[in-house]
Amino acid sequence: MTGSNSTGQRLIRAARLAMLAAAGPLLLAGAAFAADDRFSGVKVEAIHVNGPVHMLTGAGGNIAVTVGEDGVLIVDDQFLPLAERIQGAINELGGDRPKFVLNTHYHGDHVGGNPHFGQAATIIAHSNVRTRLAADAALPPVALPVVTFDDAMSVHFNGEEIALFHLPAGHTDGDSAVWFKSSNVLHLGDQLFSGRFPYIDLDAGGTVQGYIANLEAVLESAPSDVRVIPGHGPLGGLNAVREAVSVIQATRANVAKSIADGIAVEAIIKAGLGAEYADSWGSGFITEERWIRILVRDIEARGH
Ligand SMILES: [Zn+2]
Ligand SMILES: [Zn+2]
Repeated sequence: MTGSNSTGQRLIRAARLAMLAAAGPLLLAGAAFAADDRFSGVKVEAIHVNGPVHMLTGAGGNIAVTVGEDGVLIVDDQFLPLAERIQGAINELGGDRPKFVLNTHYHGDHVGGNPHFGQAATIIAHSNVRTRLAADAALPPVALPVVTFDDAMSVHFNGEEIALFHLPAGHTDGDSAVWFKSSNVLHLGDQLFSGRFPYIDLDAGGTVQGYIANLEAVLESAPSDVRVIPGHGPLGGLNAVREAVSVIQATRANVAKSIADGIAVEAIIKAGLGAEYADSWGSGFITEERWIRILVRDIEARGH
């Protein structure tokens, strides 16, 4: 089993545990206990970004929320056991239950709250998000996106256009960026792990080259002063996107050269990618070893 495979399975398992924990008394006590433990210390906190847009942190992917005269719209909803805490943070900003939930992609750390928020909100996502979530028999229908799109769409809400753009074959095959045009805020979902090696889901249509191409497209088209909400990591700007492109390109080229030189995967892992990466870029969810395994698999599947 490869590193990325087991990572994907861990993500799915984490999402299932989170769902079970909130499902009520019918579940296995052990699973609920593990999930409760995992989230018991998590606080959901709001950081003001611009205009009516805040970023919510907690566990899992960063959430964007706009609160205003039309109501509440959120981008992603972390894990189901955090739904009440997420709603609490929205209430503190003066908001009610969200009317819209936009999902950047289908991973459980971004859509885990769908079964809760989908009861009152219209969920919007790329069509592949609905296809992948619908294939999971454990998810109730209310957790599925109701409105889907293939390339782009906009929601006009709280006095601005909120534009969704599909980012093809990067982190998965169903990612979108969400741009709050007047507020000048861009939520990139897991197309950006700020300052960390990214998880790229090769089993769900993701590719490293596609991931780089998507980030380059963002750099070409986004306003230079846009505020960027990454899927994981701190609020920032396009510098974080530029850094990610250069680190991913450099480490991919490094690993491609090692493979071309006939160096075995375990030896590449042992040698590492360089001291500048191990303690910073490899300190997140995707360690240096996991990142090397993703790169090797991607390079072997797609060539150098
Ligand atoms: Zn994520
Ligand atoms: Zn993800």
